[in-house]
Amino acid sequence: MDETLAQTPRVAAFALGGTISMAPGAVLTGRQLLDAVPGLDRAGARIEVREFRQLPSASLSIGDVFELSAAIREQVTAGAAGAVVIQGTDTIEETAFLLDLLHPGPEPVVVTGAMRTPAMAGADGPANILAAVRAAASPVLRDLGCVVVFADEIHAARFVRKADATSITAFTSPSAGPLGRLVEGAPRLLTRPAGRFTVSVPATPRPVRTGLVAVALGDDGELLRAAAGRFDGLVVAAFGAGHVPAATVPALAALAGQIPVVFASRTGRGPVLADVYGFPGSERDLLARGLISAGFLDPVKARILLHVLLAGGVEGAERAGIVAAFRAAGGLGG
Ligand code: ASP
Repeated sequence: MDETLAQTPRVAAFALGGTISMAPGAVLTGRQLLDAVPGLDRAGARIEVREFRQLPSASLSIGDVFELSAAIREQVTAGAAGAVVIQGTDTIEETAFLLDLLHPGPEPVVVTGAMRTPAMAGADGPANILAAVRAAASPVLRDLGCVVVFADEIHAARFVRKADATSITAFTSPSAGPLGRLVEGAPRLLTRPAGRFTVSVPATPRPVRTGLVAVALGDDGELLRAAAGRFDGLVVAAFGAGHVPAATVPALAALAGQIPVVFASRTGRGPVLADVYGFPGSERDLLARGLISAGFLDPVKARILLHVLLAGGVEGAERAGIVAAFRAAGGLGG
């Protein structure tokens, strides 16, 4: 290998499928996706791609992401400057956060995808891949954990959401805003999130089942009663700043006596409160009955964190450890 090539940062890319690869009559491989990106050869990175999965992202499992995280760890340990994950957009907000929780190292892990298939006019996949590779190879994004690079914006995995079903600017960070953007192809960081939170999980995580139940107008708690005995942990997507119908409180209190039950806001922006309202089903009531606050984490991210903690991150899945983890990762730890 000549000297300049040897000094060029190596980026490990992982292709998982998704709209970005859904061509008419065929699913494109990671290699084919990279080959179709104009200017990638001038992105300042040596890219090695692995065909990791070929799935619509709705069918990826938490086990797939544990395995992906281990494969990324192997690559960065072997000298990769960063990693790029190319996948379907439907579950990016969850997979990226899980990768973030599992990645204590300084190397950037960058997740991207596309809202348009390769055959559509104005397909966004190539531009997103190019931006993701540049971000993963850049020292600017070190020590930030996992980020989502999409439509030339850089979002922290902890805050990002898929907030539009079809737009090519579907990814936003409603509570915090983007960390930065790519300008003339270079990642520019405008802000850094406060702290980082990671969980160490054993090579063979404990198999656990975690659920997510959203409350709705007139809910009488039937789904919550049906959840009893079926989950190791549960997240409730509550109204507003952490409120549920009074009729659901007995079921929630019973569940919280058996398993960790976390409440998060289903609004999509802002935290649940701790001490403003005191009516039956309010945040104060839920906390008093043993439920755990998700802070700023939205329901799907709260469920990912709960799952990881139960899968092995927290000693004996103790409640105090879970509360502390949610305080730290949920942004209400002070
Ligand atoms: N159905 C796709 C997925 O695998 C959507 C996308 O990639 O944008 O998530």
